[in-house]
Amino acid sequence: MFRFHTTLACGATIALASPVAADDLCAKALTALGTSAAPLACTGTPAGIAIAPDIERADRLSRLGEAGEARFKTYFGRDTSPYVVLEAIELAGAPNPKAALEAVGFERVLVWSSQEDHVRQITAATRASAVAAARRQGLDETKIAAVADQAVAARRPGRLTLDAREAQVVPHELGHGWFVKAFWPDYQPAAQDHYGGPGPDWLDEIAAMLMEDGDGAEERRKVFRAVYQGRAGGALSTFPVANLIDLPRFLGREHPAQASPDIRPDDMPAGGPVGMRIIDSNDPEAMTRVLEAALYYP
Ligand SMILES: [Zn+2]
Repeated sequence: MFRFHTTLACGATIALASPVAADDLCAKALTALGTSAAPLACTGTPAGIAIAPDIERADRLSRLGEAGEARFKTYFGRDTSPYVVLEAIELAGAPNPKAALEAVGFERVLVWSSQEDHVRQITAATRASAVAAARRQGLDETKIAAVADQAVAARRPGRLTLDAREAQVVPHELGHGWFVKAFWPDYQPAAQDHYGGPGPDWLDEIAAMLMEDGDGAEERRKVFRAVYQGRAGGALSTFPVANLIDLPRFLGREHPAQASPDIRPDDMPAGGPVGMRIIDSNDPEAMTRVLEAALYYP
């Protein structure tokens, strides 16, 4: 990766590595985002691109999109609709980069937080949750600060965790859009608060999950297996196993997170990055709904 250390090397590498069609897509996207986007790095495939502050990051996000493209072709036998993965950064003159990119023909625009921003969000939410819990216990301020620091240190995700999450979620989120566009090309969502298509929620989720890196799905299957075999610990130990194998219920129900606004990702400004919600593990009702939502993914 040392090759990418200077701006000059970046430019030369893009020119050699990117297909012409990707360069055209990059030019179109960066123009749509305005002059403040000019210094950003962009790379991709003829089907979609990734834009980020540096070429290593753009390349990584693009590879995740490319892996998703291949899986989409394998599973659905269709091409993916034109897409952009845009790392979420402030761009002067582009208050809604998602809308600007959609306006020039990118049908799937995923605004994605940098790993640093993601860690910052986790840290802030973990600290707030730990402080609230410590206050409820009546601890003094010095003790509260110490407890919060401990909670943050214990919750800090490592680089591998962050990479694994991205390999799972980036293609998953792209896949939601590709799936709807491929099979309901004229579909206009009636409400902005649902991400999926006109089909049932389970179908949207299965389509998106097929785009993920296999390790993430395998992790979820392990949890599912443990619950099914009655050897799951913690809050999962009391999960009703009958619900796991109730196929009519599964096929007929709304996504559990869609039905529970209190566990859905926080609302983000229009065109903002994919949201996140940290649930206080001291709230047993919310935890039950979170687990139910987690187990919704087969
Ligand atoms: Zn999904």
